[in-house]
Amino acid sequence: MTFEIPPRALVVFAHPDDADFGCSGTVAQWTAAGSAVVYCLLTSGNKGSHDLKATPAQVARTREREQRAAAEALGVEKCVFLRHDDGELEVTMRLRGEVCRVIRDEKPDLVICPDPWRPYQTHPDHRVAGWVGLDGVIAARDHLFFPEQLRKGRAHHRAGRILLFGTAEPNLIVDIGPTFERKLAALHAHASQPHNRERAEFDARMRSFAATFGKPWGVSAAEAFRYIDRF
Ligand SMILES: [Zn+2]
Repeated sequence: MTFEIPPRALVVFAHPDDADFGCSGTVAQWTAAGSAVVYCLLTSGNKGSHDLKATPAQVARTREREQRAAAEALGVEKCVFLRHDDGELEVTMRLRGEVCRVIRDEKPDLVICPDPWRPYQTHPDHRVAGWVGLDGVIAARDHLFFPEQLRKGRAHHRAGRILLFGTAEPNLIVDIGPTFERKLAALHAHASQPHNRERAEFDARMRSFAATFGKPWGVSAAEAFRYIDRF
């Protein structure tokens, strides 16, 4: 399959670090090639802490700071934080509208989000991020969806291609051998998260995942996606 690197891409996901696990080796490759990539986070992971004294607001501040550092390590242009409550996302028209607005503002050629059809996806927020990412693409494309957004110069926008990460049925493999170290740097930027406690063991596990995805395709490290074009 031929795949062209998109000039502009938007990544829609639920929590700080989801995209860095799912697609950051690919994102680093694209930004190095000149793509403008924007991250859109539905929550700031404000329940993602085992510190019994930390308030949700403190956790969110820490995790947004970490996500910005990870984005910087990857050459991501900016992070848009929608700041919904961690663990409480629901598939609503309101949330679809918010994602639609971000797509219309950022005008990506391609949107990346989690695969909502992945079997046994247990985290509710990951399922929701997949649905509102996909549904936001359709809504952004057609001017009669959320027409109140189409004022002050904002136009409807077609993001013609979609990549789903965390998929059970990949049809596109990206060789991330050249950017694997940058993926690790992005994941290390989430310093408050449990995966950074045993870093050597974590790095080895990440290397092994990437090698497993790459092996059938003859590359040492890969990320796997479901690619949908002509959306
Ligand atoms: Zn997550």
